[in-house]
Order: sequence, then C-alpha cells, then structure tokens
Amino acid sequence: MKFVLPQPVAEALTRLEEAGFAAYVVGGCVRDHALGMTPHDFDICTAALPEDMERVFQKERVIETGMRHGTLTVVLDGMPLEITTFRLDGEYLDGRHPVSVQFTDRVEEDLSRRDFTINAMAYSPARGLQDPFGGQADCASGIIRCVGAPEKRFHEDALRILRALRFSSRLGFPIEENTARAARGGRFMLDKISRERIAAELTGLLLGERAGATLAAFPDVLCAAVPLQTVTDAPEWPVTVKRVDTAPRDDALRWTALLWDLTGSAAREILKGLKMPTRLIETVGSLVDARSMPLRHENLQEALMRLGADRLYQLISAQASDQAARRPEMQADAQEHARALAKAVSRLIEENACYTLNQLAVGGRDMAALGLRGQAIGAALNALLLRVVRGETANERDALLSAAREAALNSQ
Ligand code: ATP
Ligand code: MG
Repeated sequence: MKFVLPQPVAEALTRLEEAGFAAYVVGGCVRDHALGMTPHDFDICTAALPEDMERVFQKERVIETGMRHGTLTVVLDGMPLEITTFRLDGEYLDGRHPVSVQFTDRVEEDLSRRDFTINAMAYSPARGLQDPFGGQADCASGIIRCVGAPEKRFHEDALRILRALRFSSRLGFPIEENTARAARGGRFMLDKISRERIAAELTGLLLGERAGATLAAFPDVLCAAVPLQTVTDAPEWPVTVKRVDTAPRDDALRWTALLWDLTGSAAREILKGLKMPTRLIETVGSLVDARSMPLRHENLQEALMRLGADRLYQLISAQASDQAARRPEMQADAQEHARALAKAVSRLIEENACYTLNQLAVGGRDMAALGLRGQAIGAALNALLLRVVRGETANERDALLSAAREAALNSQ
C-alpha cells in the first residue's frame, strides 16, 4: 500500500519514531485510502505515553484533549492532529464506556479494540500496513464485519450497532451475516446509549448513499432506537424508504422524508426525544405539517406567505421526493416540476411580490384610522394580505383601504 500522507502527518510520525516510539495513522483515514477515497482527517496512534508526546512535541502547541484516554492534540504547521497512545479497553459495565483503559506498546492490541475490520488498520511509511483482521480484504469485497465476536463487541458498546448501519449506508457495504444477526439481537441494548449519540448516528445513516437499503434491511434496529413502529409496519414503508433515498443529502430533508407519514406533532416528539437541535425539529415539523399543501404556480405567492421563502423551497423539494418515491418512473418529471416551481418562487421574490405584512401598502395606523382597535387591526391586515397574495386586490393603498372599509361594513 502506497499512502502519501500530508506533510504535517508524516512529520509527526517521524518525530515519534525518532524518539523511539512506534507511530501510525489509524482508523478512518486508512480505510478511506484503501477504498480510494480522500481521507478527511488523520488520527495517529503511538506507543508513546501522553507525557512522552508532550516531550516530543514540546515546541508545538499541544492541547490536552483527553489525557485519561491517552489523547493529545498537537498542532503541526497549523494542522491539528489527534495522537492517542495504543490502548486496550478494560471491562465495559454500562454498555458504552470501558471502566478503565490500559496503555500498551503493541499496535495489534490497539487495533483489536476497534469496531470493524475496515476501521482496524494502521499504516506508517516506516512500518507499512498493519491489518491483523483482514480489513483490506473487507474493503475490497465491501463488507462491514466486527473485529472479534459481534455479540461481545455490541454488548461492550451498543453504539457500534448503529455505527455498523451508518457505515453500511455510507459506503454501500452489506453487513456480514453474523455481525448483522448480532446487531438485530442486541438492538434492545440501544436504550443504554445517550439520545444525542443515537441521533448523530441516525442522521449519519440517513445521509448515506444507501440509506434506503439500510433502513429496509434493519427496520427492527431502527425501531429499537426510535419509536417508529407505525412507520415501519405501515404498507407505505417501501415508499418511505425510497423517499429517503430520493431526498437531497440534507439532514432536515432526509429526516422529513423518514417522518413524512406522521403528523407534524408526532414528528416533533420523535426529534425532541432524540434531543435534536430546535431548529431542525421546527424545520422537519413544519414540513411534515405542510406535506399536503398543494403547490401550483397559481398559489405560490400564498404558499410564500404561509411558509416563508426558505421553508417553501424545502417543501417543493420534499414533495418532489415523495412523488418520485411513489412513482419512480416519474422521477425526472417530478424534479423538473420542482425546479420550475422553485424558479417561479425566486422570480416572485425578485419582483418584490408582496407576501409579508411589512410589504403591504397599508399598515396598522391606516386600520386604526378606519376605526379598528386591538386585535381587529392585525386580523384586518392579515385578511388584506391574503387578498393581495390571491390576486383579489392590488397592493395599492387606495384599493386596500376601500377593501378594508368594505370588509368592516360587512362585518357590522
Ligand atoms: P468518520 O469518517 O465517520 O470519522 P472514522 O472511522 O474516523 O469515520 P470515528 O468515529 O471518527 O470514525 O472513529 C475513529 C476510529 O475509532 C474508528 O475508525 C474506529 O477504529 C474507532 N472507533 C470509534 N468509535 C468506536 C467504537 N464505538 N468502538 C470501537 N472502535 C471505535
Ligand atoms: Mg473520524
């Protein structure tokens, strides 16, 4: 394996080796390289203890990221590098965290605690590839397989169950049979995992290239992580799976595709339960609420008024995903239609079409001058705005005042 490392990474390895400590890049970056992908970060592991590392890098900026677990961040030429001492995890009692960690000077031991074979490789220019569990072969054949006995590994840390699904979705690799069986069998241990960690893994799963296939294969695991039985048991589930795949790779839109058949408030409950950011909860909740809003060129200005520009663009996209999922042969048409609608919305905005109260040619004072008071003022302005977006009244002062006068007379 020829793996050209970025200069600061190579430099860090060389410095550790020159001080007498074995050092490798490890985990995700070795996997990504084996898969022909560009790694996004480089984790380093070494026989050096944290105090050794501080000595080796005493002239550099060092951040004590996780001393207890043997992790330091060293900034070399402006590049932050996480360097961790080879370690073995002690016993796991809570299904997530080892009770203790034990440092070791053997890289194979460090690799043996890692989750999947494809993630359990280390490489150094001086020492070559360390691959005791067949990670390179599993990269080549495309399979997610636990290091060691899957039941034991999932029992130690149930988060690995969702990590298996996430990597399967992202890389498009099936999960090896024994690993898959253990993932299903261990799914009820997911209740030991923090909601935030579950949320992060599920979002990662949903954003994967093969999210639909992963969801279709593991509805039982999904339901052990989030209460979605009504969705996965519904006859519409195959459509949901396709809708997720068709949705753009955006967290809010992918969650919307998954929760589409719920009510907005049920969708919000699910996401709140996962402690998702308020913004995401609100986006998904309001898109699910609006899923059946008919969007046509004639009523786009009204839709703009009801949803605002950002949400309307998202809804156009979400509805197109739904249409494409229901009728895959119409996918191109649905996308074309969505593009046309979005363009029409942009045009309305460019042309300064009126869709907010601020843009209305009359205001609260005008309503007060007509004798309206209190809440009646807001109600009257909203009624006028609705007339304008529906094209029933022009957004001009005189026209609006006479419409308001007429409405006031009618309501007396
Ligand atoms: P990504 O590209 O998503 O960052 P990654 O492989 O770098 O992928 P990380 O979550 O950053 O994944 O973890 C780094 C490495 O640490 C993994 O490659 C794996 O070797 C190990 N690892 C992470 N989480 C676990 C876990 N829960 N159990 C065992 N090993 C783990
Ligand atoms: Mg990583």
